[in-house]
Amino acid sequence: MSAPNVVGAGRQRVLVFRALPPDQLALLQAVHEVTVADPRQPEQIEAFEAALAQADGLIGSSYPITPALLARAPSLKVISSISVGVDNYPLAELRQRGILLCHTPGVLTETTADTIFSLILATSRRLVELANLVREGHWRRSIGEDLFGRDVHGKTLGLVGFGRIGQALARRAALGFGMPVLYHARRELDLSRQAPELQGRVRHASLEDVLSNADVVALVLPLSDETRGLMGAREFGLMKPGAIFINGARGAIVQEAALLQALDSGHLWGAGLDVFATEPLPLDSPLRAHPRIIALPHIGSATFETRHAMAVLATDNLLQALAGERPEAVYSDVGGGEA
Ligand code: NAP
Repeated sequence: MSAPNVVGAGRQRVLVFRALPPDQLALLQAVHEVTVADPRQPEQIEAFEAALAQADGLIGSSYPITPALLARAPSLKVISSISVGVDNYPLAELRQRGILLCHTPGVLTETTADTIFSLILATSRRLVELANLVREGHWRRSIGEDLFGRDVHGKTLGLVGFGRIGQALARRAALGFGMPVLYHARRELDLSRQAPELQGRVRHASLEDVLSNADVVALVLPLSDETRGLMGAREFGLMKPGAIFINGARGAIVQEAALLQALDSGHLWGAGLDVFATEPLPLDSPLRAHPRIIALPHIGSATFETRHAMAVLATDNLLQALAGERPEAVYSDVGGGEA
């Protein structure tokens, strides 16, 4: 691994590839030459490519920065992603070229945990289906067993991934809803030191144990070469009959055809999904209007407060890196140590 490029002070070239709030854009414009060009908009691709060829720094999210794009950015020294997940970036190439990668851990943790917990509640209690029943004028008598939901409190929650968001979910589940929590991660946490409030309520287990003992399984781990397609027919088959599956991480961790099969066979009760292998979800996707799926448009962190906080952290990261300082949140696998 080469050392991260040292970035000198002074006016440099920044490419903003996803809209930033005006206050953060103004901070960048005050010290650097800034081009705003969103490559998802066909009419902006040319400007994006021209700016990329000159850019010292990139800031944005939700667009794959491929090795081919990197090869067309000879001056690039830092990418500041407005996201915590870094699956849109070619980590090996960044490492090789000494390009610093920054992200936004922490500021979106609680909001994303709120979203995922709301998916657990909505799926278990059939909130979307029953609200639609009222909206569409079909509430003509008290509902019967055919429309009953499942309790959430007291059920066992299985978490695959137990980092910032996983632990925030565990606090909601264990402390708020009396749910025992099993988690799988490659390393077992020392709860007494890292999450004392969860001691005695949370247990580390193998993936197989989590899947076969939880009433609700939620994914909260990164997409990586190791986790791509992790949930397939075998894994859904290990889940308890009638269990609920939630994905708040990344779509490609799930083999979607296997999930559909597990739902259609009646093995699983339902699924709540915030993320998909292809986003936006294609109109002809069988996941979109499936009666046992609640599908959200990737809104884990999408509140006014949190999206602004993410933009602030990402802008700070970029300004610090371009000034030759150590940014607040460097992604550890590339930059060597995460703040
Ligand atoms: P984090 O603090 O880095 O936690 C990641 C957890 O996953 C850790 O417990 C880690 O433990 C575990 N993990 C990593 N690789 C694993 C593997 N191969 N097998 C099993 N466990 C593994 O990350 P976070 O901030 O909680 O975020 C988690 C992910 O959520 C992000 O990467 C992102 O993709 C997703 N996310 C989605 C949204 C949304 O809008 N839906 C919003 C924010 C984040 P070990 O290293 O010990 O295995």
